[in-house]
Amino acid sequence: GPLRQEDLRNLAELGMGNGGSVMKVEHIPTGLIMAKKIVLIDAKPTVRKQILREIHITHSCNSPYIVSSFGAYILDPNICICMEFMDKGSFDGIYKRSGAIPIDVVGMVAASVLEGLVYLYDVHHIIHRDIKPSNILLNSLGEIKLCDFGVSGELINSIANTFVGTSVYMSPERIQGAEYSVESDIWSLGITLIELAHGRFPFYLDDADQELSAQPRFGSPREPMQRDMLDMLAPPMSPASRRRSRRRSKGVSLQGGVQELSILELLQQIVMEPPPRLISSEKDGGKFPKAADVFVNACLIKEQRDRKPPAELLKYEWIEHTLTSGLQMKKWAESV
Ligand code: ADP
Ligand code: MG
Repeated sequence: GPLRQEDLRNLAELGMGNGGSVMKVEHIPTGLIMAKKIVLIDAKPTVRKQILREIHITHSCNSPYIVSSFGAYILDPNICICMEFMDKGSFDGIYKRSGAIPIDVVGMVAASVLEGLVYLYDVHHIIHRDIKPSNILLNSLGEIKLCDFGVSGELINSIANTFVGTSVYMSPERIQGAEYSVESDIWSLGITLIELAHGRFPFYLDDADQELSAQPRFGSPREPMQRDMLDMLAPPMSPASRRRSRRRSKGVSLQGGVQELSILELLQQIVMEPPPRLISSEKDGGKFPKAADVFVNACLIKEQRDRKPPAELLKYEWIEHTLTSGLQMKKWAESV
């Protein structure tokens, strides 16, 4: 039968994102444990019905690399989406708790995300649009799965008061206003892999004292995206660069009062500067296998048309090696 709010019992809060909150719940009639995402939407009843229809498409997704869906229902003014509960949470939480992810595991993340993207694109003609560590989930079987993919154009349009799809994982072409493509997801994957391998987000504001030349094409400083980005940027910044960014702030003041930094400078850096590398400028050069470096560089080609699609990237040496290495993902997952 259909999912009903009264059949669900809250067990714990799993997290808060810019789209809503996620609860661990029990479906009382079946005893199933699920993750329930509550999204505040701002849409007319007809649009809501369309959103529900689109979400039900995810019901038909059947892949070991995609978090499965139990369905969705409206709880005015929210929409509740019930999905498979992944008991080890998302990779952002994992690395923030236990530090940089071992490079072999990062390889498994890369392979799993590519498999998931190929499945979504080939079978359902869906582009993910929001690849980032918090949308890559792990369970204690060692399975790695994607969630929160852009199935519903209507949902994306009507999520109240947020910047869905605007994040620091955006590709240069997206920042410049181009449409999403599978290659945009590949850029976001490259940034994600470096973040996991380094244990920190790879971009930071550097010494170069450049003035902003472009006007923002998105949001005002008061929008919630700012705080969300602050959360992502806070760990990677060294105290020195934090001081610099405060000093050099172009007036983007962040709610929450932790620090000021210029999001616009960061986005401009993504567009203007060379892409980040897996072998960082720090002392850890040489720590990562060459094949991993080659793969990540292929993800982070700045020109969209030169970036390869997921099916091509699956053939890279690093991925093939990872998939045949017999890595004990279950063992690793149990240890985190
Ligand atoms: P974001 O992805 O921006 O962090 P979300 O609202 O999508 O925001 O998710 C909030 C958090 O809830 C995620 O970071 C993740 O840790 C957790 N989460 C989401 N979906 C699941 C799930 N199916 N199983 C377990 N944890 C989940
Ligand atoms: Mg999410």
